[in-house]
Amino acid sequence: MKLTRLKIAGFKSFVEPSEFLIEPGLTGVVGPNGCGKSNLVEALRWVMGESSYKSLRASGMDDVIFAGTNGRPARNSAEVMVVVDNSARTAPAAFNDSDSLEIMRRIERESGSSYRINGREVRARDVQLLFADAATGARSHAMVRQGQIGEIIAAKPQARRRILEDAAGVAGLHTRRHEAELRLKAAEDNLLRLDDVMGEIE
Ligand code: ATP
Repeated sequence: MKLTRLKIAGFKSFVEPSEFLIEPGLTGVVGPNGCGKSNLVEALRWVMGESSYKSLRASGMDDVIFAGTNGRPARNSAEVMVVVDNSARTAPAAFNDSDSLEIMRRIERESGSSYRINGREVRARDVQLLFADAATGARSHAMVRQGQIGEIIAAKPQARRRILEDAAGVAGLHTRRHEAELRLKAAEDNLLRLDDVMGEIE
């Protein structure tokens, strides 16, 4: 999955709307300490559906909203949009009707987040699965955090297997299997209840 554009407004230190074009090839982000390099990567993970504020170095999800400085008031919302190239039409069927996908996440103070794909409101899970199917995403091993290489070297076989599954793009299948199992269990329970009712009627 190729990311082509990232737009950030009100997220952490990116108070003004900022747009980054991601050209083909290697992209480097350079700047002095504290200028926002990690915030940029966190914005990307956040729009991909990151649900843990701790892994975004925050003490609550509202902390990702620009908190204000001496000369600037805090904001009440933050918005991040990432554009991905879908010319190979690999997106899930529900979103596979255009050559590019605009995935957007917005948070309002004390009201939580909402997600859109090409302007259509979707669930966090839809966004997480979209990226998981493409072997990327906020928790995937395609996003390498500081210290993660060491963790991978020391990982137990089961954790290593998850890395391989991630790379093979089957991480989303586990979530779907779990959901299908829950639906199956609910259907079995309903059948049992139906048997009871039938027994009472007969
Ligand atoms: P380093 O090179 O030291 O790792 P960096 O370029 O990765 O630094 P970041 O960690 O991305 O920098 O940015 C840190 C800056 O972001 C700090 O100045 C911090 O005050 C600011 N910041 C973080 N959260 C917010 C927020 N919610 N509102 C305003 N500023 C914020």
